[in-house]
Amino acid sequence: ESVVNRIAAGEVIQRPVSAVKELVENSLDACSASINVVVKDGGLKLIQVSDDGHGIRYEDLPILCERHTTSKLSTFEDLQGIKSMGFRGEALASMTYVGHVTVTTITKGQLHGYRVSYRDGMMEHEPKPCAAVKGTQIMIENLFYNMTARRKTLQNSADDYPKIVDLLSRFAIHHINVSFSCRKHGAARSDVHSVVTSSRLDAIRSVYGVSVARDLMKIEASDNDPSSSVFEMTGFISNSNYVSKKITMVLFINDRLVECGALKRAIEIVYAATLPKASKPFVYMSTVLPLEHVDANVHPTKREVQIFLAVKYYNCSCLLANDIGLLIHL
Ligand code: ADP
Ligand code: MG
Repeated sequence: ESVVNRIAAGEVIQRPVSAVKELVENSLDACSASINVVVKDGGLKLIQVSDDGHGIRYEDLPILCERHTTSKLSTFEDLQGIKSMGFRGEALASMTYVGHVTVTTITKGQLHGYRVSYRDGMMEHEPKPCAAVKGTQIMIENLFYNMTARRKTLQNSADDYPKIVDLLSRFAIHHINVSFSCRKHGAARSDVHSVVTSSRLDAIRSVYGVSVARDLMKIEASDNDPSSSVFEMTGFISNSNYVSKKITMVLFINDRLVECGALKRAIEIVYAATLPKASKPFVYMSTVLPLEHVDANVHPTKREVQIFLAVKYYNCSCLLANDIGLLIHL
């Protein structure tokens, strides 16, 4: 049984960056205002995510890392609605099958926190009282220690740290009311360091730099059929002054960070056709879309989604940026 669990867990947590994504999403779900990530050896030695969210109740600690344990669904409708992204109640459990997980947490009004370690879905010992300020810190040590082949493959390729920095950058420009930091273990300075702001453009400037932010224009689209449910898209796309060899596409659907290959390719094609320069675009898009139009089953890790942008929403086309007449035909 443990081998089966480990294989299943290895599917959910494919690389260090997948673990970081799950942990940060949990911190966001816990209403954190500040999320700090520390990584050692590309995440293979250590991933540590600390937040100042609502914490985990003492009585929830024993089952925290059991599969399908989640505090986020209460009704069947929730379950249907949430088919969207992520693995409900599987992320933390999975991590305990492929790494050593230690949780330190304190809930509001408590005098001290608790620390507990998990392995293979279970607590290794009773939660121990400890000093804690606010929120939760989750540490994953020795990821894939029991998956020799996976570990070797990861060790032989470039490590995940740049991917983790990229991930945190994406979160930071979407969740502008949360401050994020990310650094290597032992490093004095952070590689991502965002501060809370009310301006998306300021956030992009602080994370991606002035050279990106100054060449962006606002994009907006919405559902003009009042009888249907909400569809809204807002964001930024680079203008003709922008020069980059690679595309950056940051896409959030209903506040979940996702990939959408089809949309990315469509934007790339239209961008190339519209702008004479051989530059790849920078795009940030945040879309609110009824879940029946998102099919999250395209890729087993559910990072990749397919958007069924029905005629109803887009009239077959999405006006992305009036200024340069970028029309995305899907
Ligand atoms: P899911 O996020 O799908 O519920 P996870 O395995 O990622 O499943 O997490 C299991 C549960 O652990 C969550 O439902 C939540 O109650 C709790 N949890 C995990 N991380 C945190 C955190 N940083 N702060 C508060 N609660 C957390
Ligand atoms: Mg989760």
